[in-house]
Amino acid sequence: MKEVIKGFRKIVYLSFPPEVSGRPVVCNLTRLFDLSFNILKADISPRHEGAMTLELSGLEEDFHKGIGYLKENGIRITPVAHKIFRDEESCIHCGLCTAMCPTGALFLEKSDKTVSFDVDKCSACGMCTRVCPVKAMTLDPEDGRQ
Ligand code: SF4
Ligand code: SF4
Repeated sequence: MKEVIKGFRKIVYLSFPPEVSGRPVVCNLTRLFDLSFNILKADISPRHEGAMTLELSGLEEDFHKGIGYLKENGIRITPVAHKIFRDEESCIHCGLCTAMCPTGALFLEKSDKTVSFDVDKCSACGMCTRVCPVKAMTLDPEDGRQ
């Protein structure tokens, strides 16, 4: 029997084509699949292409059904882990980004005072890309928000 993991949570980045951006597809994730959602960033206007960073939680099985539903509706899904990158060699561990990061994805290691990046916590808000003095943090340019 397939194991159902409760408390599943994932942040995804959605790209909406113009014909879908005015429809309540995200609200339907709750109605149809019992998923909770938290909009971390949205740039959507009716009849235009849009983008949204969404935190989804619920049962893993329902999450996959919900993602399938979004794709059937023409929405492109990108895991946030594929949207934001850190160039480990460029980072000088100045810590500036840790003060800006709203999710705690960038944090100071107590042991050696280096800055670590936990991509699973990242919401791809792009704040760190604006403050990093050596441009070590980059957002997928396809995103158009840099
Ligand atoms: S701001 Fe840039 S250089 Fe400084 S710790 Fe963050 S990623 Fe590294
Ligand atoms: S994009 Fe940068 S600042 Fe925003 S959540 Fe991710 S690591 Fe933190």
